[in-house]
Amino acid sequence: MPAKRSGPTQPISVVTGGAGFLGSHLTDYLLAKGHRVVAIDNLVTGSLQNIEHLGGNPAFKYIQQDVTEFIFLDMPVDYVWHFASPASPIDYLELPIQTLKVGSLGTHKALGLAKHKNARFLLASTSEIYGDPLVHPQPESYWGNVNTIGPRGCYDEAKRFAEALTMAYYREHKVDTRIVRIFNTYGPRMRLNDGRVVPSFVGQALKNKPITVFGDGSQTRSFCYCSDLIEGIYRLMMSSTNLPVNIGNPREMSMLEFARTIIQATGSKSKIIFTPLPQDDPKLRQPDITLARRILRWEPKVKLEDGLAETISFFANREEGVRQKKNRRRA
Ligand code: UDP
Repeated sequence: MPAKRSGPTQPISVVTGGAGFLGSHLTDYLLAKGHRVVAIDNLVTGSLQNIEHLGGNPAFKYIQQDVTEFIFLDMPVDYVWHFASPASPIDYLELPIQTLKVGSLGTHKALGLAKHKNARFLLASTSEIYGDPLVHPQPESYWGNVNTIGPRGCYDEAKRFAEALTMAYYREHKVDTRIVRIFNTYGPRMRLNDGRVVPSFVGQALKNKPITVFGDGSQTRSFCYCSDLIEGIYRLMMSSTNLPVNIGNPREMSMLEFARTIIQATGSKSKIIFTPLPQDDPKLRQPDITLARRILRWEPKVKLEDGLAETISFFANREEGVRQKKNRRRA
């Protein structure tokens, strides 16, 4: 039975992966909306640095736990936001079994919590479920082109399983579920070394090191700033849509063009070098956001130039912090 509410009804949200890049931004957003937030994270790819500013906030609680284990919470819960997962290709290449476990067992536990507490549930799914897409841009109706046994299969299939499990809980247990398919997102709090293209290129550019474009750089991506993404996801949770919705920014560019954009935005002296394209790297990616526009009245607002400026200054400060720490240790 869900725990009984007492006192004023401040919504209570549980965010799995709450110390991660997106989980921590979502946590900030929900706190600003007046929610109480319980963030759960095992810190495999998340970091306490992302939530340290919330220390002492009475509306915030952090639990260090692997969500593939039973989640016990002695309180009512209104919303479960399931964001826990490694999300960068090099992270899930290093952690393939943990990635499969959090997408399957972790989603099972998070859905179980939502069912037990009679809470609404949102799954953070991904554009990766479309694989190397044969339809472009990708609408939600596209079933995808995924290599199950390739290096990205652990992430793609875990998220595909998570979507299937979410729909099963919706149909069988009548849990009120939502599924967001998140396209490439960037912003402050990404890890400098997470291997994704934004931190990689910005980190290289800030140090005037060569920018590593994989392949010939003709593969495309479309980058959404984190605040736009979180706004879209919040609207989805508050909507009445149980079927998957793409959230992302349709402005598409090649990785070569993106490398040039980063060099320009940082004023870097870096040169571009070409290195081998990883296996199964999707050649094209752009969200079709017709559905989000129509049912959520949402579309991204932050221009790439503005979002990059914020992100670059975040990474520049982090780099400076690391440099000062090293100097202090030497002194
Ligand atoms: N990429 C690149 N150089 C890097 C890192 C990534 O050219 O140092 C490319 C990568 O091959 C892919 C795109 O940038 O085509 C986006 O990669 P990311 O790892 O950010 O995420 P993905 O969209 O592939 O999941």
